[in-house]
Amino acid sequence: MKNIMFIAPPAAGKGTQAELVVAKYHIPHISTGDILREISKEDSEIGNYVAETLAGGKLVKDEITYQLIEKRLKEDDCKNGFIIDGFPRNINQAIEYDNILKKLGYEVGNVISIVIDEKTLEKRITGRRICEDCNAIYNINETSSAPQQESICDICGGKLYQRNDDNLEAFQTRYKMYQEKTEPIIEHYRKQGVLKEVNGNDTIENVFRKIDKIISLSSK
Ligand code: AMP
Repeated sequence: MKNIMFIAPPAAGKGTQAELVVAKYHIPHISTGDILREISKEDSEIGNYVAETLAGGKLVKDEITYQLIEKRLKEDDCKNGFIIDGFPRNINQAIEYDNILKKLGYEVGNVISIVIDEKTLEKRITGRRICEDCNAIYNINETSSAPQQESICDICGGKLYQRNDDNLEAFQTRYKMYQEKTEPIIEHYRKQGVLKEVNGNDTIENVFRKIDKIISLSSK
């Protein structure tokens, strides 16, 4: 199947949608945010740098992301398609991603942009909770995606936590950054003829239905 890239503002639901795609199509989900959060736990110079950058809602240095993406894409499980989420996040990263893909013989595939308004995002950001064991995502502000028991994962029983950067202040920094740096890459992919836009102001199920349609139509 074709590779998939998600472009969406923070808290638009791209992590949740990526998990639904993984569950149906069994392809690896490569999230630079998840990889960086793992690195941020390391007690090392790079671990400390990444932890501080994430907590402030800023972007880590481009070079770090290139290395971790190339290393991850070289793994065998990416051969039958993968979903990339959180990368590229600016135009330089998009250009470098095109180079990495070419080098490894991969195509960009479907670039799916989730379009959603800022007020909805603000409401979502404060309610987001994540399982520390399986990374499942919940929202305590939305009945349809709240966990059955407070602070406990429905799937694996793991403890739920709130990301350091899921507060209004860090959100506003990240959203501004998204508009300035990430939105221009939408045009980059529109020009390549690979961009698909999906309205994200809808239920998880309906957004997934639209994404699933794009994937299945392009696999024919
Ligand atoms: P996410 O889980 O995608 O919202 O990413 C969480 C944080 O990780 C971001 O706010 C950035 O600090 C960092 N990050 C993730 N992906 C990238 C990237 N492609 N380039 C730079 N920083 C990134």
